Amino acid sequence: MKIPYPVKCNSCNTKTTYMVNAEDWDFNFQCKCGSFQLMFIQTNIFLSKKFLLRSQFELNENKDFSFSIILSAIAIEAELARLYRKWRKTEALKNKILLKNHELEEELRKQSSILNKIKITSSLMIEGGVDTFVKNNHNINGLIKEGYPSIKLNTFSKSIQELIFYTRNRILHMGRTNYTEEDALRIWNLSLLFIFVLQEIDKLKKGHLTRRFIVHSKGSCNST
Ligand SMILES: [Zn+2]
Repeated sequence: MKIPYPVKCNSCNTKTTYMVNAEDWDFNFQCKCGSFQLMFIQTNIFLSKKFLLRSQFELNENKDFSFSIILSAIAIEAELARLYRKWRKTEALKNKILLKNHELEEELRKQSSILNKIKITSSLMIEGGVDTFVKNNHNINGLIKEGYPSIKLNTFSKSIQELIFYTRNRILHMGRTNYTEEDALRIWNLSLLFIFVLQEIDKLKKGHLTRRFIVHSKGSCNST
């Protein structure tokens, strides 16, 4: 898959986007000014961001709105898979068990619906999962109330399933492809929001673990 990567020419400062392979970490860029440069992809760009970039490109440049919707939904699945692998491996390591990616893929595949995948993945990071996090987080609450009126706050993940994945399924399963630019933009924004919320929970969990590690290390020092 190609993704549109934003670049800025080192010689003439022109900003543009360049189509690169999603798995590449660097690429040769030739600017219109004639300059050749080796560019590096930021290492903190996850697969979900790459799908969102391509979704945005389909929305704004190719005007393929249904394909943009499919890619927005895939971005969420990519983020769920990454976080599931990360936190299941962390959890298993506490019991000195090393889990392999293909085992975890199998585990996640057994979840019959996207709602289950959301529930099981977010519950690895926070008790009660993403719905509890959203209900108790004032900033996220305010953000959703203000900018995403189609989302029901009490059933956040169910709203994501209905608004994004039911639409995706209507395209993939029933061949409905007459979605508009407005539809695709709304779904792109919803996908961006949901991935942002997942990453906030991830940061929170990482913070808890780091603090526990520091406290534990101090405890170890004191006891020696
Ligand atoms: Zn240039």
